[in-house]
Amino acid sequence: KPENVTQLQLRVSELEEIATQFSSEIEYIKNYDTLTGLPNQLLFFDRISQVIERGSRHYLIAAILVVDIGMISQINNTLGRAAGDKLLLEISARLNATFRSYDGVTRLTLSRFGGDEFAVLLTELPSKETVTWMVKRLLDSLEAPVEIDGNSIFLSGHVGVSMYPSDAGSVDELINKAMIAKQYSKKGHTDTSYQFFDHSMQEISNKHLKLDKELRLAIKNEEWELLYQPKLDIKTMSIIGAEALIRWKHPTRGLLSPFEFIEFAEQRGLIVAIGDWVIKTACQQLYEWTKLGFTDCKIAVNLSAVQLRQDDFVGKVFHTLATTGVPPRRLELEVTETMLMYNFQSAMAALKRLNSRGITISIDDFGTGYSSLSYLKNLPINTLKIDGTFIKDICNNENDKQIVKALIIMAHSMNLLVVAEGVEEQNQFNLLARYGCDEIQGYLLSKPVSAKEMTAMLSTPPAFIANSAVNFSYDN
Ligand code: C2E
Ligand code: CA
Ligand code: CA
Repeated sequence: KPENVTQLQLRVSELEEIATQFSSEIEYIKNYDTLTGLPNQLLFFDRISQVIERGSRHYLIAAILVVDIGMISQINNTLGRAAGDKLLLEISARLNATFRSYDGVTRLTLSRFGGDEFAVLLTELPSKETVTWMVKRLLDSLEAPVEIDGNSIFLSGHVGVSMYPSDAGSVDELINKAMIAKQYSKKGHTDTSYQFFDHSMQEISNKHLKLDKELRLAIKNEEWELLYQPKLDIKTMSIIGAEALIRWKHPTRGLLSPFEFIEFAEQRGLIVAIGDWVIKTACQQLYEWTKLGFTDCKIAVNLSAVQLRQDDFVGKVFHTLATTGVPPRRLELEVTETMLMYNFQSAMAALKRLNSRGITISIDDFGTGYSSLSYLKNLPINTLKIDGTFIKDICNNENDKQIVKALIIMAHSMNLLVVAEGVEEQNQFNLLARYGCDEIQGYLLSKPVSAKEMTAMLSTPPAFIANSAVNFSYDN
């Protein structure tokens, strides 16, 4: 019946309308951030690829700005989700207002990436200077605090910028580089709150990525070696112990110095595993020496601040000593002044416990930090190691001479033993002996050597000691 047909057609077009609306809603959700109504990441990426397509036909400059507000998780946690949403809406409004007034200069897309990350695509730019200017205006717009539920919230915006076509020619790379630049700015590498990508960053980021991976593998495979540098007691002219110095047996780069990886390992929290290996290996070596009849020599291990900050550090050290059957008096721990300034209270507590059970504590590189001798009085330490930089010119530099002389006298008055580091020449040794220095370490006696060579040195003293003995007997 014709009437029914008309009705049916009406119904169909109604449904068609609903479907169209529905699909456009889906389209919207797919492409826009529901909270702010801004294009989301997907649409933003699409806009960049359009620029790249056009760019291959007409030469033009574009910039990608990644903006980090850096507050949203705190606000969500303290004031609640609704407050966080208000903050995001306010920021979105400010960014919109900032860029709308410059719409004549450039074409742009403002986007929310999620979290507190926004992004801006600026196209058809006359110069890089224009970008700098826009970035500054953007940061200015975030300067004033945001008022939410009676709270004034101060923002800490950071912007990373990558440029097309000079930095990269693909969407992924452009975004990645803007992100790296933003990260760089956030870490406080720059005075400003924004950073343009530059190639040194990429190199650094690639290098760090690689080093991180290799170090984790090195920890797993124990790609380490401990070298030992002997310490000489001046009074008895005998070797009384050695300092353990780590090397990385890198699979392709050979034996690496600690300067190449220790600081990095500290930053990444990897030093704990490395340090554990060092203490374990030093204790095993002490056990070997005991079996060979060298029952008195000590091994000194260098610590890093991160290790000392662990809650279970003291317990771990005693556990290692116990399982290797080594008495605590044969282990020495070297710490620096700067390490103690970090977390002074807990570092103190840990050192006290270690020291009271017989482990020797030494202050390494003394003189290079900030502490005074009087400050050391309250610390549980036994030995002061005068940094090599004071020893270097001790024969020629009157100032260094007086410093070292005074240090030795004062350290002795505080019942501390004094070790001079980096002793390379006989003249330096003679002077130190005259000043009453207790022990020396340095190339004059021996450079750091393998465990095997160190063991041999314990039974056959190195040339320097043998020659001194001859001199000594001639002197008498
Ligand atoms: P450090 O504790 O001050 O060690 C002394 C450094 O001076 C060593 O460098 C040693 O080889 C070098 N040296 C020794 N005698 C002389 C000399 O007569 N003249 C000169 N010019 N240098 C001399 P190395 O082995 O490269 O170690 C560098 C630093 O790495 C160490 O400085 C120490 O702070 C750190 N380190 C070494 N092993 C470890 C470790 O197992 N753990 C931690 N956390 N740090 C370590
Ligand atoms: Ca040391
Ligand atoms: Ca030192």
